[in-house]
Amino acid sequence: VLAGEKKIAFAVTEPGGGSDVSAFTTTAERKGDVFVVNGGKTLISGALKADFLLTAVRTGGPGMGGLSMLLIETDRPGVSRGPVPGLQWYNRNNGWLQFDNVEVPVSNLIGVENRGFAGLASQFNIERFSGISATLAMARTCIAEAIAFARERQTFGKRLIDHQSMRHKIVEMIQRLKAAYAFLDILVWRFSRGETPVADLALLKVQATTTLEHCARESLQVLGGRAYTGDNRVERIYREARIFVIGGGSEEILRDLAAKQMGL
Ligand SMILES: Cc1cc2nc3c(=O)[nH]c(=O)nc-3n(C[C@H](O)[C@H](O)[C@H](O)COP(=O)(O)OP(=O)(O)OC[C@H]3O[C@@H](n4cnc5c(N)ncnc54)[C@H](O)[C@@H]3O)c2cc1C
Repeated sequence: VLAGEKKIAFAVTEPGGGSDVSAFTTTAERKGDVFVVNGGKTLISGALKADFLLTAVRTGGPGMGGLSMLLIETDRPGVSRGPVPGLQWYNRNNGWLQFDNVEVPVSNLIGVENRGFAGLASQFNIERFSGISATLAMARTCIAEAIAFARERQTFGKRLIDHQSMRHKIVEMIQRLKAAYAFLDILVWRFSRGETPVADLALLKVQATTTLEHCARESLQVLGGRAYTGDNRVERIYREARIFVIGGGSEEILRDLAAKQMGL
């Protein structure tokens, strides 16, 4: 996987829900030197092409204490997968997974049995960091497209960018983006010092994704009807921005996580 020759997917969300990690029902029952896995996952990015699945499974009792992380090879007997019907995302490799009596060696356990929640949380931190960077890059793209168009387009005898209300849209996008990048810089610095500021990372994900939503909306407004024609980057970002607010911990769940971490 590290050499880029094999693919891996992070399989957490189940048909019964993704936010409430403690309610997951995919089980891995230990029988001798194997776990026997039964259950299903859905909406998993990369599921259709993955060679391996880093999978959240229930090895113990109910709640977060009974979860473990298991590496499951997708070519094991009993693993089936397919596309999620009607999924509106360009990542066509997103899919569902079904496990029917899949035998997985105990040596595939990642971390400590029944302490998988800690691993899950740390994996989510990594996912959030990379998601935040991608999110802010998309916001930058929106701003760049809006500026380029506003410099060219003429309305009422002058360039769009020469209309004050258009300039305000653009500088407000830049203002929000710069604030999010400044927040990101601080967290990168804190992580590089060995800290794990979970609450701030949760808040930054909310900040970055809502900044993206704002920039997608406003840049699309600058482009006007043009945004709906041809292969347009802003239109695509606008359409897909919502998933970044939901995946990897939704806005509501992350605000709540931050509140709990702060002891509120
Ligand atoms: C394109 C795409 C890619 C994805 N990739 C992956 C992947 O690679 N791996 C993976 O495991 N999952 C993946 N997911 C799933 C994603 O992580 C979940 O959609 C997300 O965690 C939310 O879970 P849910 O959809 O089941 O919503 P639910 O948990 O059913 O929640 C529905 C809504 O209610 C809100 N909500 C829930 N509980 C509370 C509460 N206590 N208080 C307030 N509000 C609440 C949520 O924020 C959400 O807005 C992907 C989803 C999509 C659409």
